[in-house]
Amino acid sequence: MICDTLIIGGGPSGLMAAETLLAAGRSVLLTEAKPSLARKFLMAGKSGLNLTKSEAPDAFGAAYGDSAPHLAPMLAGFGPQDVQHWASGLGQTLFTGSTGRVFPDAMKASPLLRAWLERLTAQGLSVRTRWHWSGTTPGAFDFDTPDGAVSVSPKVTVLALGGASWARLGSDGVWARHLLAAGIPLAPFQPANAGLTVTWSAHMARHFGAPLKNVAFHAADIASRGEAVVSARGLEGGGLYPLTPALRQGAPLSLDLAPDLTQAQVADRLLRAGARQSLANTLRKALSLAPVAQALLQECARPLPRDAAALAAVIKALPVPYDGVRPLNEAISTAGGVPFAALDDGLMLRDWPGVFCAGEMLDWEAPTGGYLLTACLATGRWAGKHAALYG
Ligand SMILES: Cc1cc2nc3c(=O)[nH]c(=O)nc-3n(C[C@H](O)[C@H](O)[C@H](O)COP(=O)(O)OP(=O)(O)OC[C@H]3O[C@@H](n4cnc5c(N)ncnc54)[C@H](O)[C@@H]3O)c2cc1C
Repeated sequence: MICDTLIIGGGPSGLMAAETLLAAGRSVLLTEAKPSLARKFLMAGKSGLNLTKSEAPDAFGAAYGDSAPHLAPMLAGFGPQDVQHWASGLGQTLFTGSTGRVFPDAMKASPLLRAWLERLTAQGLSVRTRWHWSGTTPGAFDFDTPDGAVSVSPKVTVLALGGASWARLGSDGVWARHLLAAGIPLAPFQPANAGLTVTWSAHMARHFGAPLKNVAFHAADIASRGEAVVSARGLEGGGLYPLTPALRQGAPLSLDLAPDLTQAQVADRLLRAGARQSLANTLRKALSLAPVAQALLQECARPLPRDAAALAAVIKALPVPYDGVRPLNEAISTAGGVPFAALDDGLMLRDWPGVFCAGEMLDWEAPTGGYLLTACLATGRWAGKHAALYG
């Protein structure tokens, strides 16, 4: 089968590449392994669909760490304002939370996705679902389809295959084999925005499911403020996720359970609460420490010092031992994949002319907070724009 433009992968980056190619007048065939499109995008909607972050460009770019210089032109072409404009154009009213995070009022992805797919269909997009890219033969991309094996020979291709987490939604990373077979070097996949495995004592069991609120998390030179949930497996949650790059390396984790107070202020409040009441009452009255925070304090620093200054030091920097980050498949996103060094400025593979890459399959990582979807949309648009000029 011959086609003009082939996109493999129907997540947000592939759909954005499709939109850009269609706008440039190209004819587009989009193939997707799963029975329906954008399953991970819909899953992102289950936690509210944080589309982007309303933030100054420098601060926004800094969230991508070492990859920031590579992503800068793409984010300049399609940044937070553009994402909001695009979503509004698809009929979504948006709101910005107190931290700058931007969500659709609907707090889910399905209305946006429905409107987007309707628009793409009206623009002439051809979609084949249940088409699983299984490898390449010279000049062709091979697919397992419900009707048997099909080979597609396109003029230009955009790969938008996602990362390697939440495999049941389609992003299984199996594509890495096909790129390695084509001689493309890849950075190993690693969990990003991942929870931690912690072996708790039996005392913690009654706190499973309880959120640790208003905590600051520290590992190496990374600090993050937010929430995490104590679970049977360990600790997980948005406050912890920005630390994943350091925690993957085994950096010690410490928690500040009273981040709005200095150590001296904590000590002073403990002293003023007096020695006549139980420690639990002192911690609750003096510092409003919730039962789960107190349990964590006992779990990780028992026996607690009686001296107010020493106890304040523990509360401000509680070491939490952990056994490692949770497995890749559970992570919100994936680091590793196609390195920028393997791509030219238009996101075309240097060693595979006519094949462009976009989205989470590229080797970048960022914390949650809208940075993931924004970069997926920006790289999808960029790859689509440059693919449109090819062939
Ligand atoms: C629980 C959860 C919550 C999240 N919440 C947010 C959030 O609020 N904000 C945010 O910014 N990000 C969020 N994310 C991350 C975001 O959803 C992803 O970064 C984004 O979907 C990646 O887009 P993508 O198009 O690059 O890849 P994907 O969305 O993974 O799409 C890739 C597509 O390629 C298909 N594919 C893979 N291999 C093949 C093959 N061999 N043949 C054919 N098709 C194939 C897959 O089936 C899939 O549909 C969340 C992720 C999870 C898991």
